[in-house]
Amino acid sequence: MRNDSVKVGVIGVGHLGQHHVKHYGGLSNADLAGIYDTDTDRAVSIAKQTNARVFQDLDSLLDAVEAVSIVTPTRFHAEVAEKCIRAGKHVFIEKPITKTLEESDKLLLFAKEKGVLIQVGHIERLNPALLALQPYTINPKFIEIQRLAPYTARGTDVPVVLDLMIHDIDILLSLVDSPVKTIRATGLSILTDSVDIAHARIRFGNGTVASIMSSRVAKNKVRKVKVFQRDLYATIDLLLGLTEVYKVVNDPKDDPEAIMTAPFDYNGSERFIAYEKPAVTPGDALRMELDNFIKSVQGEETPIVTGKAGRDALKVAMDIQRMIIQDIH
Ligand code: NAD
Repeated sequence: MRNDSVKVGVIGVGHLGQHHVKHYGGLSNADLAGIYDTDTDRAVSIAKQTNARVFQDLDSLLDAVEAVSIVTPTRFHAEVAEKCIRAGKHVFIEKPITKTLEESDKLLLFAKEKGVLIQVGHIERLNPALLALQPYTINPKFIEIQRLAPYTARGTDVPVVLDLMIHDIDILLSLVDSPVKTIRATGLSILTDSVDIAHARIRFGNGTVASIMSSRVAKNKVRKVKVFQRDLYATIDLLLGLTEVYKVVNDPKDDPEAIMTAPFDYNGSERFIAYEKPAVTPGDALRMELDNFIKSVQGEETPIVTGKAGRDALKVAMDIQRMIIQDIH
């Protein structure tokens, strides 16, 4: 526990990195020491908007900080993170943690040796609509997740599984407390040489089954999670910030706030279905995860998405991707 602010830097200030700069600037326990981008014009333009100091090379930025956000394209995560960790800096790495599992394993090992934190930017874990499920006991039998996005060139340096589906793999692994047992997957290329649409069916050791579909060829964005379990069905719209829960109750008095159906027969006794809309507390998920990172560096909290969780999501993503490639060849 400490009271002084954490000196932090941002590496890569493109589409997403600029928001890291903005949020660090607004966190009372963070002191934004500066930014570095291989595209100096881009760094200067972000500095003009935010008053951040521009560093001309990575080494000088690392001399001025104790923690960094790495927001470069994914293919550079491993190289940049290794340099930061070797310099003894705590790292927040945007998702996916790295492009390969070997790179992740190496980073986790280095971080352990150096005694620094790795946190991964699986931002959906802090989506207020997903957080609204926290008061419920979640023990899913079946989960369906769909994520559709209109095509943009950003993120297409990796297949859709590593760009979009990995968000949902991370959500899934956080909802199911059991190891992955089997995976079936298929997909196809539409606009890039890589896989643009992917579908995976995952079975966990405890019998839970999940169906995840991701596409970067869509007219409109869709991000929906549906959780089915004994006596409860929840739908979470991550985009609209709407969570709805239907659950079987014995007595309407058990849940006076909820809208109730008429009674129905359930294995010989009378039951009701209660409809609830748990309160979704608005919040900026990026700000919350960076705040969690800074507090973790200070020893006040622990990372919500650890390097290990980022690695586990990557492992499942790589298995899905491999299966898709086998399936389409
Ligand atoms: P971007 O291309 O817009 O920005 C990347 C920036 O990094 C560019 O300004 C580039 O000049 C700079 N850069 C490249 N190599 C560098 C290096 N070695 N050192 C320093 N700077 C370097 O990309 P983006 O869309 O901002 O994505 C960045 C990362 O964030 C990717 O890993 C992506 O997967 C991830 N991302 C996560 C989310 C999320 O929801 N959590 C959303 C978008 C992007």
